[in-house]
Amino acid sequence: MGKVIIIGGGASGMTAAISAARHGAEAVILEHTDRVGKKLLSTGNGKCNYTNLRQGLRHYRGESPAFVLPVFEQFGLEETIAFFKELGIFPTERNGCLYPASGQASSVLDVLRMELRRLGVSVLTERSLSSVRASSGGVSVGTGQGEVLGDCCIFCCGGKSFPKSGSDGSAYPYIEKLGHTIIDVVPALTAMKARQAFFPSIAGIRADISIQLYIDGRMACEDRGEVQIAEYGVSGIPAFQVSRYAARALKEKKKVWAVLDVVPYLSKQELEQELMRRFSWKSEKTCEEALIGLFPKKMIPMLLKESRIPLHEKAGSLGKKRIHDFSAYLKRVKIDITGTMGFEKAQACAGGVSVKEIDAHTLESLLCPRIYFAGEVIDIDGVCGGYNLQWAWSSGMVAGMHAAVKASQERDR
Ligand SMILES: Cc1cc2nc3c(=O)[nH]c(=O)nc-3n(C[C@H](O)[C@H](O)[C@H](O)COP(=O)(O)OP(=O)(O)OC[C@H]3O[C@@H](n4cnc5c(N)ncnc54)[C@H](O)[C@@H]3O)c2cc1C
Repeated sequence: MGKVIIIGGGASGMTAAISAARHGAEAVILEHTDRVGKKLLSTGNGKCNYTNLRQGLRHYRGESPAFVLPVFEQFGLEETIAFFKELGIFPTERNGCLYPASGQASSVLDVLRMELRRLGVSVLTERSLSSVRASSGGVSVGTGQGEVLGDCCIFCCGGKSFPKSGSDGSAYPYIEKLGHTIIDVVPALTAMKARQAFFPSIAGIRADISIQLYIDGRMACEDRGEVQIAEYGVSGIPAFQVSRYAARALKEKKKVWAVLDVVPYLSKQELEQELMRRFSWKSEKTCEEALIGLFPKKMIPMLLKESRIPLHEKAGSLGKKRIHDFSAYLKRVKIDITGTMGFEKAQACAGGVSVKEIDAHTLESLLCPRIYFAGEVIDIDGVCGGYNLQWAWSSGMVAGMHAAVKASQERDR
């Protein structure tokens, strides 16, 4: 029987261990915190959005997103749903996102832990990494409490996001020592800070807004949905989706701004017509009053102020030109992005081990035989909606299987 050592007991580490054990290997998880799966408990606001029925390459990012395809061909959406159903997780769906019917992320962790126990996987917690060596004879992983020897080793140590869960990037130096390149790691799926002084006055608003992100003058990406306005800038799923590009560009000292369309459900022409109606000469209302019902009340003074329209001016006195300019502003509210909320608040990170140095079919290192990678430690990140966990489950299962097969072959030599 071969032995597979798994560094990190998160989503990918637990599935890698289950897969390795199911393929006949002795599996041992080395986790540096006091328990496995801490981050899992916070996923999906405590409900764990564990995958999404709408899969596709467009949901994955990195230097070469197509790297995910051979992995998903071996263990994709259907296999994931079946795997969790078998363990006890009955899926419920919301807009394609799957959650456990219990509504509790802890159920997902519970069933994974029960399966680890059933398969006899050793889970060694509070083991901090001190060395990783691989040779033709096997692998040896040093921890504070001594050395663990095995045939293969899988790095499942996550990235740097949400470090209080244990994913603190502390394993990167050991990966680099093995000769691997780490693509610069930046926060992804996080809120963004903006310079504009008006944010505190509109904080708390949630509205359907589209965000276009510009880097050095070129549009990098866009997203639309419920944006949450905060004192410091923008949050909510659309802000999360574009944040990885902002984080990387800011690190590279590029100029980053976003254009918000605060009425994405109306075309330019429709909006202008709607404003003409509201600001018609017949109106007895003030400009502020004329906008009630179109925007959240708290937002109206800010929109008018930024367009230099006095709040108490009579709606009927605005005239075509000013209505046209106001309409143009509402479609393009420009904000300067100055930062992100950082790794502390990020749900994922972009960057990680370069996929050029990993076999996309087996997830074994191309530089260092017997070493494998799975999950967020690899330079792959998904968009919001269950895609990051899907990558963690799939890559964990695939790496665990190939590592187990290799471990047993090496033993039989
Ligand atoms: C608040 C929040 C909500 C999220 N919600 C969702 C969601 O609903 N759906 C979704 O798809 N994704 C979600 N994600 C993202 C998802 O949780 C991660 O992408 C996923 O957990 C990554 O799995 P992983 O195994 O690669 O890494 P992790 O789950 O981060 O696990 C890594 C493990 O390795 C351990 N480790 C790290 N370094 C070492 C070391 N040196 N030695 C030993 N052990 C080490 C860590 O302690 C940790 O246990 C969310 C993330 C956050 C933070």
